Amino acid sequence: MKQLAFDVVVVGGGPAGLAAAVTAAEQGKHVALLDDNARLGGQIWRSGTSAPDSREARYWVERTARANVQVIAGARVFSAGSECVEAETDAGLQQIRFAGLVLATGARELFLPFPGWTLPNVMGAGGLQALAKGGLPVAGKRIVLAGTGPLLLAVAAYLSKHGAEVVCICEQAAWPSLAAFGLATLRFPGKAREAMALRYRSRGAKYWTASWPIAALGKERVEAVAISRNGQEREVACDYLGCGFHLIPNTELAQMLGCRIEEGFVATNEFQETSQRGIYCAGEPTGIGGMELSVAEGRIAGYAAAGEREKAKQFFGVRARYRKIAQAMRSAFQLRPELAKLAKADTLLCRCEDVPFERVQKYDSWKAAKLHTRCGMGPCQGRVCGSAAKFLLGWDVEWNRPPVFPVRCASLAEMESGNTEWETGICEADC
Ligand SMILES: Cc1cc2nc3c(=O)[nH]c(=O)nc-3n(C[C@H](O)[C@H](O)[C@H](O)COP(=O)(O)OP(=O)(O)OC[C@H]3O[C@@H](n4cnc5c(N)ncnc54)[C@H](O)[C@@H]3O)c2cc1C
Repeated sequence: MKQLAFDVVVVGGGPAGLAAAVTAAEQGKHVALLDDNARLGGQIWRSGTSAPDSREARYWVERTARANVQVIAGARVFSAGSECVEAETDAGLQQIRFAGLVLATGARELFLPFPGWTLPNVMGAGGLQALAKGGLPVAGKRIVLAGTGPLLLAVAAYLSKHGAEVVCICEQAAWPSLAAFGLATLRFPGKAREAMALRYRSRGAKYWTASWPIAALGKERVEAVAISRNGQEREVACDYLGCGFHLIPNTELAQMLGCRIEEGFVATNEFQETSQRGIYCAGEPTGIGGMELSVAEGRIAGYAAAGEREKAKQFFGVRARYRKIAQAMRSAFQLRPELAKLAKADTLLCRCEDVPFERVQKYDSWKAAKLHTRCGMGPCQGRVCGSAAKFLLGWDVEWNRPPVFPVRCASLAEMESGNTEWETGICEADC
């Protein structure tokens, strides 16, 4: 096991993590930035195999290099304690000590089960976009996008640009909610322009409100999707179905560290410090609010972790402004109760361990269901089925012990043996 030490360790290389790492490093701190992808950028600036194509992404990645942030890419943090995190990399296990820690682990899509959702070519909307960015050819493919939230529009625009035929976007929210959200974004001309540009770029796709998937149909792979639209059922032929029922925060590491969670999000003070001293959190784990909010929170966390609280205050205004968008999104894209009724008795809830909904339903808590059925014990470690169970059954789903991701047995054995190989000269600080 390799052991490294830094003043500030940032987990997550999306907008929030990049901003936090750069800010702390520019204050003279030795900073490590860990991300489980091969390249920095997080979800919005994911660039597949090439350099990031957005100007903003390039700005932050280049600034990261200039600020001498030590980037540890392909590092999946699966365990965290009050003094160090453990990450698995291709080069083996790394234990990384910190004086200050910033969690910028982002969010993931919420998937909800419905008949046929495990058919090949049914996937997350953002997941489909990520595959396309990684080289999946989508030109000429008929694609249905369904679920809720602005991500559907962003994905539709991206796929259309790359030659896909996006047949329709099924948004579960009704027009009045969307209209209220539209009015709220008018206070942010940049956001309103962005939304209009996305819709223009995906203008070939029909935009259906109060619509959601009730079944994916097909033998070997998805061939069509049955949609409920304004109370009527209709079938739409497709090659891919991308579904995402808005975003849910990645709070597993924060939970493991004992940080207080409020209404599903990591609670922080005005300096983005969690209920655990020296542990900060920025970006989507504290609220789903888009890239600008993530960057503002990252800047504040970076300054605060570097001990520069006065300087952090300059970003309070912009954070407050963009938090209004987060609130508007929250109320506009609330999930309707009908979605909790889509899974049938034999619909798989846990797709890693093949556990149907009826087996899980018999229990009265996530813990009991897990112990008796093995749901949540597969490769996703409950990220998909646990989050779905929370919505369908109203259960508390907690992550409070490692590993938060599956890891090699060799890594766990190495942790146990305490067989360490010190890397010197990385950090001058007494950490
Ligand atoms: C699938 C998906 C696609 C999206 N696509 C778009 C889009 O096209 N346009 C748009 O405007 N918004 C998009 N968003 C929303 C966008 O993510 C946010 O607006 C914003 O960029 C969030 O920034 P962040 O830094 O908080 O998190 P993220 O950008 O999510 O960055 C978090 C990073 O942390 C990494 N990470 C998490 N846990 C660990 C761990 N334990 N160890 C190591 N690394 C870890 C993640 O892999 C990720 O790279 C998308 C969101 C998702 C979930």
